[in-house]
Amino acid sequence: MKSGSDFPYNEAVMSTFASFSLDKTLVHALEKLGYKNPSPVQERVIPKALKRQSLVCQSQTGSGKTHSYLIPILDTIDMHLPKTQAIIVCPSRELARQVYEFATPFQRFFPTLKVRLFTSEAQKSQNSEGLTIPPHIVIGTPGRLADLLTKSYELDLHQVKTLVLDEADMLLEQGYFDDIDALYSLLPEKTQTMVFSATLHQGLKDRLSKYIGANFVYEGEKSKTSVQVTHHLIDIKHVGVLAALERFLNIRKPYLAMVFASKKEDVKKAYQHLKEIGYEPTMFSGELDQRERKQAMRKIRSNKSSLIVCSDLLSRGMDIEDVTDVISLDLPSDLSYYYHRAGRTGRFDKNGDSWVFYNSDSTKLPLELIAAGVQFEFLTLRENGLVNDPVGLLPKKKFSKKKPFTEEESTEVKIAKARTRSDKVKPGYKKKTQEAVEKVKRKYRRKAIKEAVKKHKKTTYSRLAKSDE
Ligand code: AMP
Repeated sequence: MKSGSDFPYNEAVMSTFASFSLDKTLVHALEKLGYKNPSPVQERVIPKALKRQSLVCQSQTGSGKTHSYLIPILDTIDMHLPKTQAIIVCPSRELARQVYEFATPFQRFFPTLKVRLFTSEAQKSQNSEGLTIPPHIVIGTPGRLADLLTKSYELDLHQVKTLVLDEADMLLEQGYFDDIDALYSLLPEKTQTMVFSATLHQGLKDRLSKYIGANFVYEGEKSKTSVQVTHHLIDIKHVGVLAALERFLNIRKPYLAMVFASKKEDVKKAYQHLKEIGYEPTMFSGELDQRERKQAMRKIRSNKSSLIVCSDLLSRGMDIEDVTDVISLDLPSDLSYYYHRAGRTGRFDKNGDSWVFYNSDSTKLPLELIAAGVQFEFLTLRENGLVNDPVGLLPKKKFSKKKPFTEEESTEVKIAKARTRSDKVKPGYKKKTQEAVEKVKRKYRRKAIKEAVKKHKKTTYSRLAKSDE
């Protein structure tokens, strides 16, 4: 089995879930639920987790990371012992619910398995049952879990074997680590801790060292989004963003698209415009109250809408099935969110496209993404289609056809001219010479573009590294 992260992977050379010596019912459940082969992350993480090792896993979205901790948890817990044995902490209600929805199908195969969701939203319905039968697996947001477990001590935590911190970078950004510290202090000393995070910057590593020590097992991929996502930059020229979106949707006709805007006002404008022109989009942003957010999520989950217009609230970790296209009407000022946005498509083993709108007034952030290594295809939006532009945002003027870049190029041009020269003036001689010279120039232009991009990358990286320190 090849190591690392790459998709698509070849099923023929993959191991099976049975090869992890998992509980037989669990292997059967996985098969019935459609999980045939472990993903690369699962291949790396599950054996360590089964040995009860604590670990940190950096994995890109859509890689199957949730099951890489759910499967070992299901294998390890004693379903006949009515005690809480695993706690999974997620940074948002929606993410917690998503994990809960990944876990509950296993109850069909393990009738005694109890899984409970603890979020402020779930609290009203579910928690009113009380905790007379303790759940084996507890999933929740840090605030709600810390409240429940540290203040009211409603759950006996002596049998907890595993703590999972999911989307740890987001947990840290949102200031949840005090709650997590409080929770951690209540757990048995030997609790296995598994941390999953899309990024692993030094600040996070420092914060995590308390839980894990130095056992970082899986520092994932270099590329921050799945290799199955194709990135496109679309020059929308003077056309306004909403008109450009309308035009783009007419041309592309996506199966299921997520349309992102950074500001909630812009999300609303796009949503209203799409409604006015006859689409039935679903909106999701911080502007919605809890009930509306729940309704929107339900609509999204039931595939009732082929257009989701949203803010970056939906860009992290959410697994919305079959998203084929991600459209960024603008770019988020924190560019790490671009990777999260693009990661909503190309999930697991599917392909996807990420489209970013820009015009000559908004080239700064696209250029930073190019410098950070995102390989964009460049396109221009015209009335009747998308036109390819091979150079796109790369600095065209610098690469003028007229001026040679180096002496080497001048020499090669001379040689090309000499080769096409003849004693007698033959028909087409001028054209042939011109073509030969053009070929040489093209070669050097390409080389110069590559070098310029490399240099740009280098300076941006060192600038980013400095601002990280
Ligand atoms: P995640 O990265 O955990 O958000 O998972 C992304 C998607 O991959 C989810 O829809 C999972 O149900 C799916 N998935 C996870 N593991 C597997 C597997 N081994 N085979 C097929 N699908 C999987």
